[in-house]
Amino acid sequence: MWFVYVVLGLIFFAAILYLLGNYTFWLPLRSAKLPRIVMLHQVTPHVEASGMNMPPAKFEQLLQYLVKKQAVFCFVSELDQYERQSNVFALSFDDGFQDNYQYAFPLLKKYNVKATIYLATQIEGIEKLNTAQIQEMSASGLIEFGAHTQHHVNLLKLSDEEAFAEMQASKKDVEVLVGKCLSFAYPFGRFNEKHQQMAKKIGFKNAVSTRKKVEAYTETNQFNIPRVSTHGAMNALQMRIALAKGRYKL
Ligand SMILES: [Zn+2]
Repeated sequence: MWFVYVVLGLIFFAAILYLLGNYTFWLPLRSAKLPRIVMLHQVTPHVEASGMNMPPAKFEQLLQYLVKKQAVFCFVSELDQYERQSNVFALSFDDGFQDNYQYAFPLLKKYNVKATIYLATQIEGIEKLNTAQIQEMSASGLIEFGAHTQHHVNLLKLSDEEAFAEMQASKKDVEVLVGKCLSFAYPFGRFNEKHQQMAKKIGFKNAVSTRKKVEAYTETNQFNIPRVSTHGAMNALQMRIALAKGRYKL
């Protein structure tokens, strides 16, 4: 009989570990005074929900939740102007997938929510936003475009000269498309202190990383801004935990 209790005990223990690992409600409380910069990539019903794709229905739930909690939305490049406000959210999309126009943009318009899209301007192998779509989104006033290098490269694998050129050229490409480009996103979240200095020197106002955190926006982290990690399959509770703590999962 005793082994039944051992098995039950082990199952119970495994369940507790699973729960703590997939619902990080136990992470330290983060004040509503700290801005949340949400990281997203694709928004399409045609690809499975994943860390890279939040299907439109789930994305709409996210927007509804934020609108309901009276979130204040800003572009990533505007974070400094919102330092004294509470409940500030900046949505950000990396890479420049065409589905951002097809599925995310109509919802952003429906709920009047601002977002920043980081374009890897010469990226290959993805269905990317075209010039007309980019310009229409920019003209709407709801979308700002930032840069994400030209070829979506891991900056750590390039020489300093190459890295600088990739970053600078992507800024110029975005400026040609929409007239300005104020913010940068490091591809794969891979970069070091030198790349932060480069982003500053090239003339970006700030830059986002993939650190899964919620922090104050300061001069120290303005070229290493943490983001809230999302997953297309997260449930409503996990969504709340992610937005509150920066991540819902270990
Ligand atoms: Zn990327």
